[in-house]
Amino acid sequence: MQIPFLDLRIGHALIKDQLQHEWSRIISDSGFINGKHVETFATSLSNYLNSQVVTCGNGTDALQIALMALGLQRGDKLIIPTFTYISAVEVAVLLGLEPVLVDVDPDTFNIDTTAVGDKISSEVKAIIPVHLFGQSCEMDRIQEIASTHDLYVIEDNAQSLGSQYKIDGQWQMTGTIGTIGTTSFFPSKVLGAMGDGGAVFSKDKNLLALVRQIANHGQYVKYSYEHIGVNSRLDTLQAALLEIKLKHLNVDLQKRGKVAEIYDKTLSEIAWLQVPAKSTNSTHVYHQYTIKIKNGMRNKLRDYLQGHGIPTMVYYPIPTHSQKAYKYLGYTPKDFPNTEYLCESVLSLPIYPDMPMDHIDYIIEKIKKFNA
Ligand SMILES: *Cc1c(COP(=O)(O)O)cnc(C)c1O
Repeated sequence: MQIPFLDLRIGHALIKDQLQHEWSRIISDSGFINGKHVETFATSLSNYLNSQVVTCGNGTDALQIALMALGLQRGDKLIIPTFTYISAVEVAVLLGLEPVLVDVDPDTFNIDTTAVGDKISSEVKAIIPVHLFGQSCEMDRIQEIASTHDLYVIEDNAQSLGSQYKIDGQWQMTGTIGTIGTTSFFPSKVLGAMGDGGAVFSKDKNLLALVRQIANHGQYVKYSYEHIGVNSRLDTLQAALLEIKLKHLNVDLQKRGKVAEIYDKTLSEIAWLQVPAKSTNSTHVYHQYTIKIKNGMRNKLRDYLQGHGIPTMVYYPIPTHSQKAYKYLGYTPKDFPNTEYLCESVLSLPIYPDMPMDHIDYIIEKIKKFNA
């Protein structure tokens, strides 16, 4: 049996008629840029998150625009986990900011808040917690550190849209807890477009008004530029699709949870692997289902599964501190033992909302038969 890592066709088939209807309307009125669907979707997402929303071109732009809106100055330092996708560090460096990399927790894969505390200095102005694989960082501790030292918190929520975190006795959507939050609608994300897309959110209305301007060339009325901005927009076609898909998001997340539950139940009996740990006070939307393989057997298991038609992914094989482009930051692998261990041990298994049961069973059966 050959199974896919991710199959978007099943979910898209369910909304095809509705999508064709909306898209033909857009094609006939040709409102491809900033058509009414863009504002409609922003409002729907805003209601979903209970936070203001500005849409933009992709998740990397969202981070860049967020950092620009906060008015960080050249040379300001920001704390970023080294075990994550490259976007946060990339945009920080492009803006002349100095990343301070920190290690992650080996169980939750999220930023190690003790390491964050250790890196605070007067030059540090912000923290970028990345809610990796579907669950929240320890936001209570991060908010505490941020308020003590007067830091901005920029939540990279590209992988955990729809996840919730309990803080001060209240459940809040991830991405809306810190100063500002961002997400991506890259097709493989839990809310994915058929192309690129992104959004910035914040409960601070003035900050979001600035975000809106910066995403639109820093323009406050047409041809008047108050700030240096960028051009970053969500297409009308993508907004119309996302509006439809957002209505299915909670059901999709429940379906992902069911797949994870089946994996958890069967795979937790296997001694040589570890199923994903659940963070305290966070729900998990399982953007990825990432196991850890003990005894240095990860690559062997990966090849074995590949040989049986089961694709897997390694997120992430090379941490930021070891990337050629970021070597100049001056870190060594010894600085981040947990990340080094994870890069050699993690393996993400196929997971998506309408994953066929026989695929799940097949994967479990093959993993059980692996001779570790
Ligand atoms: C996907 C992702 C991004 C970037 O999103 P794009 O839309 O591809 O620019 C940023 N951060 C994280 C953690 C991501 O997973």
